[in-house]
Amino acid sequence: MTINQNTIIKDDNPLIRQKSLPVSLPLCNEDAQLLRDLFQYVKDSTDPEKAEKENLRAAVGISAIQVGIPKQLTAVVVNDIDNDGNDLHYEYMLANPRIISSSVQKSYLENGEGCLSVIDEHEGFVVRSARVKIQAYDLLTDKNVTIRARGYFAIVLQHEIDHFKGILFYDYINSKDPFAKVPGAIVI
Ligand SMILES: [Zn+2]
Repeated sequence: MTINQNTIIKDDNPLIRQKSLPVSLPLCNEDAQLLRDLFQYVKDSTDPEKAEKENLRAAVGISAIQVGIPKQLTAVVVNDIDNDGNDLHYEYMLANPRIISSSVQKSYLENGEGCLSVIDEHEGFVVRSARVKIQAYDLLTDKNVTIRARGYFAIVLQHEIDHFKGILFYDYINSKDPFAKVPGAIVI
């Protein structure tokens, strides 16, 4: 499947609000190929040459519903730096990811979130859990995985899993006070 700015559905398409269903495991060829295509999109989108040539907008994650397919499949590629300045790299091709626990402590990105399916600016804090524990099948390693995520990576995973519920990041922005400070929250 060709995935680019033209084939990614936007939030003016009601499909983006549709609930995604779990897929059967082991993955059928069609689902596995879709997951690989989603992953390839994210990889290629951060390569300036490919992005330019193939009309890709840079992303750290994409879910199947964003190409109009309501299945619980998502690919993420996240680079981050820990408190000691070490590089962190996470990449997954996830089927049926579930948040099995999440911290009471909150976290949000200082500059807000973005989404391949959202063109308009939506400024404001998107408050999420600071840490989440997720179980899923990961096609990249062909294993069932338990992911303990924190920081930026935890935000990305929650954003992608929200797509399965038809939720977009700006649904969480406090319309009366978009930049309201959240006591005790970690600002990233
Ligand atoms: Zn998104």
